Amino acid sequence: MSTFSSQQSSEQARVEALIRKAEVSVSFDFYPPRTEKAAERLYRSIEELVPLRPSFVTVGYGTGPVTRALTHELVLRIRRMTGLTVVPHLTCLGCSKSEIEQLVGTYYEEGIRNILALRGERSGANAKARSFSEADSKHKRDFPHAVDLVRFIKREFPEISVGAGCHCEGHRETPNRLLEMEYLRAKVDAGVDWLVTQLFFDNREFYDFQARCRMAGIEVPILAGIMPIVSKKDMHRIADLSPATRFPGQLLKAVDRVSSDAMVRNVGTTWATGQVFDLIENQVDGIHLFTRNRSRAALEIYRGLGMSEAEDTGAGASGEQSSSS
Ligand SMILES: Cc1cc2nc3c(=O)[nH]c(=O)nc-3n(C[C@H](O)[C@H](O)[C@H](O)COP(=O)(O)OP(=O)(O)OC[C@H]3O[C@@H](n4cnc5c(N)ncnc54)[C@H](O)[C@@H]3O)c2cc1C
Repeated sequence: MSTFSSQQSSEQARVEALIRKAEVSVSFDFYPPRTEKAAERLYRSIEELVPLRPSFVTVGYGTGPVTRALTHELVLRIRRMTGLTVVPHLTCLGCSKSEIEQLVGTYYEEGIRNILALRGERSGANAKARSFSEADSKHKRDFPHAVDLVRFIKREFPEISVGAGCHCEGHRETPNRLLEMEYLRAKVDAGVDWLVTQLFFDNREFYDFQARCRMAGIEVPILAGIMPIVSKKDMHRIADLSPATRFPGQLLKAVDRVSSDAMVRNVGTTWATGQVFDLIENQVDGIHLFTRNRSRAALEIYRGLGMSEAEDTGAGASGEQSSSS
């Protein structure tokens, strides 16, 4: 057990309890803003989204000490602003055990009881930004995969609920789908309490993945990661960052029919609304909306589903309840 003393500040509810409690669990993903203007927009968006009563919200994690501090600040700020359960993302690639212990220990003392444990990217902009020092490369071996982070948190901070990422359309580093499922199963066996998928546009991919998980004995809730397209450029960026993502022909046709970004955004929101509608009909464990720090798409999706008055639907279950609730 860690040397960090138990609860100093009010404890947050565990995500799996919040998911169980909500009729339809919807959660939102935010990331730390980099400019004053972006920060203003984010806080405005949060104010507009809180009335939708999300089950919880998550805060993305960059690399390097500056962005790490931004994640921490944003987690505390959203919590103060809204009283919602806030879940920090945490990536482990290139981090030492002591760094991770310090960071998770601080969260623990602040009453944070949920972490989304991820590995981080080995290539691309994130990895470049990481710019390993000598010491960093030495620590590369501390947490080669997310499973190592999950094990560490569960051993040192057993009261923390740990979420993990999963990739219903596969992850570029493991083309062997059977092996990939074994790795995911090992991650869950290490103590993962809930999973969130990478974004996807074809629900059939999700249902198939979910069925394969259940066959493999993975019983924890699997939240569907949904991100509406906002422009043609955005679609290409998603394809670059997440090459496994399938873009269904119907979606591409609809995007192709329109010329302005405003219209592409409408298509993207309509598509995402259809996905969410279908997922709810099929009793998904929860929806995790990647908001990109904007409220508009989420508000439109809620309206499209007739869920904008959250009190009437029982959607979400927010608040700083204790983990026993
Ligand atoms: C919901 C969600 C949120 C995210 N948020 C962030 C964020 O805030 N910041 C950020 O930097 N990135 C974020 N990412 C991106 C994530 O860091 C990348 O997708 C990364 O490439 C993989 O992360 P993972 O946690 O799935 O890694 P892992 O579970 O470690 O898997 C990575 C690869 O290694 C393979 N693997 C797993 N175990 C083993 C093993 N024992 N031996 C060999 N191979 C193995 C897997 O099959 C997979 O191909 C997020 C991803 C998701 C799905």
